[in-house]
Amino acid sequence: MRVVIGLGANLGERVESLRAAVMELTDVPGVRVLARSKVYETKAVGPPQPDYLNAAILVECTRPLDELMTSLLEVERGLGRERRERWAPRTIDLDILWAEDTILATPHLTVPHAHLHERSFAVKPLLDVVPDATDPNTRALYADLVLPDAADVRIATTAL
Ligand code: ATP
Ligand code: CA
Ligand code: CA
Repeated sequence: MRVVIGLGANLGERVESLRAAVMELTDVPGVRVLARSKVYETKAVGPPQPDYLNAAILVECTRPLDELMTSLLEVERGLGRERRERWAPRTIDLDILWAEDTILATPHLTVPHAHLHERSFAVKPLLDVVPDATDPNTRALYADLVLPDAADVRIATTAL
């Protein structure tokens, strides 16, 4: 199944954290990295904190999504993320943004990500790796979304 993983970092060497996470993900069994987005810079939401870098990768995943989520949490921990309150600054945040033709709602995992359709910092990287991605709930193309925060998300670097 094609899956898009969103990456975010707003502490430390942010680009290096994103790249380290991609490296780690290439080692996860049943996961093959197919494409990488550009890197975007975005103002953080929530309490005042450093700006975010966000990106996404497209992977081919042969394992169930809950197992992929477990692997993402392990990679986050390995890269030194400390879990404090929600929306706190972090060295790395790995979310499952979207999975082809998949709608999932369990206590631990909602796919597509519950806020994907309202966050340019998630939609822009998604569209880099899957330009024709559609929202399985509405069947709308993400490319057709008009988001109020679009202008706040700018390309920081083209190479993840
Ligand atoms: P947000 O969810 O608004 O992006 P966040 O990424 O900062 O916030 P976290 O503290 O990283 O939130 O995660 C909170 C919980 O969200 C996790 O424990 C995880 O189980 C749950 N979760 C549900 N759906 C997803 C998903 N698609 N991707 C990642 N985590 C998810
Ligand atoms: Ca997140
Ligand atoms: Ca997260």
